[in-house]
Amino acid sequence: MSELLGGVETGGTWCVCALGRGPHEIVAEERFPTTDPAATLGRIVEFFRSHPAPAAIGIGSFGPVDLNRRSPTWGYVTSTPKPGWQHVAVAGVVREQLGVRVAFDTDVNSAAVGEHRWGAGRGVRELCYLTVGSGIGAGLLLEGRPVHGLVHPEMGHMRIPHDRERDSFAGRCPMHGDCWEGLASGPALAERWGSDPGRLEADHPAWDLEAEYLALGILSIILVASPERVIVGGGVMEHPSLLAMVRRRLPDLLAGYLETPRLGEEIDDYLVPPELGDRAGVLGAIALAEGLR
Ligand code: ZN
Repeated sequence: MSELLGGVETGGTWCVCALGRGPHEIVAEERFPTTDPAATLGRIVEFFRSHPAPAAIGIGSFGPVDLNRRSPTWGYVTSTPKPGWQHVAVAGVVREQLGVRVAFDTDVNSAAVGEHRWGAGRGVRELCYLTVGSGIGAGLLLEGRPVHGLVHPEMGHMRIPHDRERDSFAGRCPMHGDCWEGLASGPALAERWGSDPGRLEADHPAWDLEAEYLALGILSIILVASPERVIVGGGVMEHPSLLAMVRRRLPDLLAGYLETPRLGEEIDDYLVPPELGDRAGVLGAIALAEGLR
């Protein structure tokens, strides 16, 4: 039997720790709120100390984070707006406290790796995983590997056209106002319409506008990175027909420019929901740890 691996997803709201070898071989799992760094990291260390030691641990973290292996602050959360979490060592603390090898990436890259390994992205080497929930984030795999580059992609903060006549909402990103996340995250929907998105009627005009914004952002991702599949998850996508609305709008916005059936009659197989649900991040973290062996 192969060794156990650890996976950690530190999200802005929740933290998940798991020990196992994959989706059907999890021997322990725990989920707790992300509070201040000391308490949260302490709880992660305690989880692994109270179970058999893993051979390696993968961490998918909310960001921005430092992924440069040569940097003295590798494994840190850096300039996040999340109170108390600026310039916090995450990977280093786990590595030192537990004495194991640690892989570190963004939460969305980790989810992309998870879906690639065990979910809706199996066999897809150029893959985008997008989540639309309390924020908007996207992980990107090229040739099967997560893209880091200069820092790491932060697609949720790209600019998309904002028609102020159709939508006078100023946007709610603390850094940029009406960036993609500022216009189309769950909290943006809630603030614009004065209602929790889960309570908006299925035919409320909010959803047409939301589908438009999501299609605009996904269009830019397709034009820049040319992924072979885009997986779209997150709480906002729980609306029963939002994904179908985005699938209809996207080819219109492309206006026939890219001649591929993937963005035409095969769109339902191109723009897909995640198969691992909200476990993509933590399972992806296990897959990151697997890559260290
Ligand atoms: Zn922003």
